Amino acid sequence: MIDADPHIIIIGNGVINQVINLLESYSHPLIVSDRQVYSRYGVRLDELLGTKDRWVMVDEYVIGETPINEDTDIIVGFGGGRSIDTAKLLARDNNLEWIAMPTAASHDGIASDVASVTHNGYRYSERCKSPMAVVGDLSIIAEAPAILRHAGIGDIISKMSSLAEWKLGHDEKDEPFDREIFEFMSDALNSVIQDDSLETLIRAQINSGKAMSAFGSSRPCSGTEHAISHAMDREQYSLHGIQVAFATPLCVYYLHQSGYSEYRAEDVIALLKAKSIPHTMDMIGLNMETMIDNIHHALKIMRRRNRYSVLDYLNVQDSDLIRTISGLGY
Ligand SMILES: [Zn+2]
Repeated sequence: MIDADPHIIIIGNGVINQVINLLESYSHPLIVSDRQVYSRYGVRLDELLGTKDRWVMVDEYVIGETPINEDTDIIVGFGGGRSIDTAKLLARDNNLEWIAMPTAASHDGIASDVASVTHNGYRYSERCKSPMAVVGDLSIIAEAPAILRHAGIGDIISKMSSLAEWKLGHDEKDEPFDREIFEFMSDALNSVIQDDSLETLIRAQINSGKAMSAFGSSRPCSGTEHAISHAMDREQYSLHGIQVAFATPLCVYYLHQSGYSEYRAEDVIALLKAKSIPHTMDMIGLNMETMIDNIHHALKIMRRRNRYSVLDYLNVQDSDLIRTISGLGY
């Protein structure tokens, strides 16, 4: 077991009620949420907490500019990725603990120490701190649109590529590596491959967050498939989890060829199909030209971050890429 926050993990139907125990020793929680979540669950949470809580809507909050109340003593992120990320940033900037109460399981940021920030149309990551607790109420998360769950599964499936490439980066370019974290994440990946349940997915996402904060970087959970998705973010084709999963078979193809992946690209494609995750350029809205351009951009991202891409390891040329992409039925 990896020793990293969150140490308190409460998952189940109706567990939103248990947030009252977590907040017992705090007087002024600030709940970061959005209007939809607030209109659905606001009254219920207010009843649970009495009048001591204060809400802030994520769309009217500007980090670093809108001050929080002086007496706020804990932050709660209650909602989707944006609410969770805003809670993370607020907790860091005000030196407070925070609790994650996700309403969707769309990516592995629910319990990570990294927030995704969009500034002037450019997206980047900011190191924050992990939540002290995650309260995952399955009856709430189950009501989120199915695409969010598919994206969440996709973000875990992408570890088929990121883990193998991490090992390659270590063996071939001496990138930092941790055997225990590698095994821990492999277990999380396998749990989701074997079990479709929302609870298993959320636990895997939490473990992914723990792995990244214990290791001190996203490398265990993010390789060339994530860099391709970051390149695709320039045009925003789909959700993060969908994009990283889409790029995974291509990376796994080359990782298998290098002897680093036990999986074959065909296995990943079959899995994507089974989980209703787009696996062709048509489904995503790419063509061969834009696909290759995104891969080129992804390789620049990898080099800039001193992460060794399997595509650089094999010195894959465009002609080979085009052949492989076609051959895999992309
Ligand atoms: Zn991811």
